[in-house]
Amino acid sequence: MKQVFATVAAALVAAGCSTQERDPPDAPVTAAERMIEEIQRSGPPYVGERVLAVMKNVPRHEFVPERYRGAAYDNRPLPIGEGQTISQPYIVALMTELAAVDEESVVLEVGTGSGYQAAVLAEMASHVYTIEIVDVLARQAARKLEELGYQNVSVRSGDGYAGWPEHAPFDAIVVTAAPESVPQPLIDQLGPGGRLVIPVGPPGRSQVLQVLTRNDDGSVETRNVAPVIFVPFTRDE
Ligand code: SAH
Repeated sequence: MKQVFATVAAALVAAGCSTQERDPPDAPVTAAERMIEEIQRSGPPYVGERVLAVMKNVPRHEFVPERYRGAAYDNRPLPIGEGQTISQPYIVALMTELAAVDEESVVLEVGTGSGYQAAVLAEMASHVYTIEIVDVLARQAARKLEELGYQNVSVRSGDGYAGWPEHAPFDAIVVTAAPESVPQPLIDQLGPGGRLVIPVGPPGRSQVLQVLTRNDDGSVETRNVAPVIFVPFTRDE
């Protein structure tokens, strides 16, 4: 009996159809691993192991429209409807790295979009509050995050310019749309040692990813990290 099994297995391997050693082609897990390798190669700035480990497990394909699922793990932004995009995986990874959250962190995100960046942050933080100005996107993201079992994310629909004062101060604030200058209310809602990660610049060009850090003495330091392109930060009329 043993002999027969061995023979069958050998024949399968020779035919290139061993099910033990190979994942089915394009299985999300394999695609996710490829995405992680690409993020690792992107940079500087490079992304640390903790963020990479989280992003390997968050199902990005769940956050993109059905027709883009095959490209969900490509290292590029994708349309999510309403003229908006889910950011490129390397940028999500970099912003998460710069936000430097741990399991105690209370985080604000402005620009929920698909909910993917919120999910990545939620895997590492205590709670994520996220605001989306396009109502239909806010609803979709809230539904998706709930369906996937994220209980530590609160989604609100509205203009994130004023932050979310009821839950401030925040240990980290991540903004995923680019205003021409940093909204003062967001700076004001940073707790001691808090980080505000934000793309700043005119629509479609010359934007720079900045990190503003509030020092213990209350002063704020600004660091330019990388040139980026984000959708514009819009305002409610
Ligand atoms: N973090 C998202 C990326 C979404 S793109 C993701 O992981 O999918 C940026 C989003 O910011 C868009 O959905 C856009 O509608 C939203 N946005 C733009 N200006 C905003 C504002 N003032 N307040 C809240 N959301 C805003």
